[in-house]
Amino acid sequence: MSHVLAAVAWPYANGPRHIGHVSGFGVPSDVFSRYMRMAGHDVLMVSGTDEHGTPIQVQADADGVSPRELADRYNRVIVEDLHGLGLSYDLFTRTTTRNHYAVVQELFEGLHQNGYIVARTTLGAISPSTGRTLPDRYIEGTCPICGYDSARGDQCDNCGNQLDPEQLINPKSRINGETPQFVETEHFFLDLPAFAEAIGGWLDRRENWRPNVLKFSRNLLDDLQPRAITRDLEWGVPIPLDGWRDRADKRIYVWFDAVIGYLSASVEWARRTGDPEAWRRWWSADAHGKDALGYYFMGKDNIVFHSVIWPALLLGYSGEGDKGGQPGRLGRLNLPTEVVSSEYLTMEGKKFSSSRRVVIYVRDFLERYDADALRYFIAAAGPESNDTDFTWAEFVRRNNDELVAGWGNLVNRSISMAAKNFGAIPPAVDLTPEDRALLEVARAGFATVGELIGKHRQKAAIGEAMRVVAEANKYLSEQAPWKLKDESQKERQGTVLHVALQVVSDANTLLTPFLPHSAQKVFELLGGTGVHAPMPEIVEVEDLDGGPAYPVLMGDYTVGARWESVPLTPGTPLSAPKPVFRKLDPSVVEEELARLGEA
Ligand SMILES: [Zn+2]
Repeated sequence: MSHVLAAVAWPYANGPRHIGHVSGFGVPSDVFSRYMRMAGHDVLMVSGTDEHGTPIQVQADADGVSPRELADRYNRVIVEDLHGLGLSYDLFTRTTTRNHYAVVQELFEGLHQNGYIVARTTLGAISPSTGRTLPDRYIEGTCPICGYDSARGDQCDNCGNQLDPEQLINPKSRINGETPQFVETEHFFLDLPAFAEAIGGWLDRRENWRPNVLKFSRNLLDDLQPRAITRDLEWGVPIPLDGWRDRADKRIYVWFDAVIGYLSASVEWARRTGDPEAWRRWWSADAHGKDALGYYFMGKDNIVFHSVIWPALLLGYSGEGDKGGQPGRLGRLNLPTEVVSSEYLTMEGKKFSSSRRVVIYVRDFLERYDADALRYFIAAAGPESNDTDFTWAEFVRRNNDELVAGWGNLVNRSISMAAKNFGAIPPAVDLTPEDRALLEVARAGFATVGELIGKHRQKAAIGEAMRVVAEANKYLSEQAPWKLKDESQKERQGTVLHVALQVVSDANTLLTPFLPHSAQKVFELLGGTGVHAPMPEIVEVEDLDGGPAYPVLMGDYTVGARWESVPLTPGTPLSAPKPVFRKLDPSVVEEELARLGEA
């Protein structure tokens, strides 16, 4: 048994999330966590909303609300979406908690004490007419990298590169259009080159990573530069140093604070369980270096933060970069075991775009379709290792042909036949070689499917689970228990149905990490009681340190099915089943396509 940290990317709280987002980080991390728990590991799955930074401030300004109010609004929307998908977070929190501020400041101070944070004089913008500092977000100009003409002083929204305001071509104030003046100002930088050797050695010891992720990460080491970790901005975590703590115009850069969320959320989770030190079982390199594993789930645009920058912060805090140093009071911290990055999902051949309405938000999806239908599509056809296109036609086809006609049909016909003819699970008498062969296919699935999920090959894993389903459908067609009507054939009919139901039960367990909502239903149709697939809950909590209350996702996942075949009990009453999956009318394709691109 290991301690398994599932560290899931933090969705940015400036709007609702679309299905591309949850395909990359949400569903794959939940499938992995559910499987690892069923296999007996001690899983801690944490994340939250990322709520600082310029885009939220800019949008709050535009909406005439405070950044906190805007973050409150979308934090709640995102919590509800992730809840609707059944994502089993041990804690889904946010970056505006006082606990998070304290952990971020602790890491900043530790890195600073060890010499890895250095002050540098850079150019900052001021307004010539007022003489006041002009925050980065109020400066706009042409991106020096891609030529986009509305790049902001800290980032280009077109190419995604981080910028400094003085790099912009033809910079202008967004307040009054005047050209800002650049004067010298002090900021803090993370000394990334001091970690190149340590990170290189760590990457050399990585096994099993997706090769493109490893190669991309190694290449980043060739050109490491000190990276700014503070900005001219009022919305963010204050800088915890004398002379800086009370300055309202300087804040820690959002990327620095958000990536520390994995650790702060683990600390918050531990504090909420009543054992404030419990987080160390996943994080302490001294006490739990060997039996603790950390898996980080994200889209490929975030690899650099998880394979270079986060390891640099952990190494620097632990005193393990070129400059040495001492671990801070949290002790030496574990580096990631694996960075699991997905590729991009596109929509009907186009990049997702909220402004151009090439989008389907999670909330709208869940209003019209079942969560497991989306989870199935993501697992079977998502962007696991290639950029992948979501089309409504393919979604409907997979739902109808695979989920409904394959798995749903197997569940429905085996249970209804047994209910009609026996009213209960019939006993098995004298198994034939065909019976034994099918039971063995299902039993072998536990090793195959489990190993594939453990290696983050979920597409192959669900394919193997669905192969068991296909074999069982074939078996039923060949054995044709509906033809065994004669009284003398009753025993054989019961045996065939027993075997089919046992394989339904096993396939249901194999599919539980992927399809937890329907797995619970199938479990109950087979006469099971209690929790089979535990679900997260939305809980309104108080901030632990006196800040405002907020909603979190948490759950008790110690209950539920184990990763094993459980023999069915003959005599368990069965009743006629209701369909577990909904067949979709092909007309939904046209309806959904008509919604795309509507203003
Ligand atoms: Zn650009």
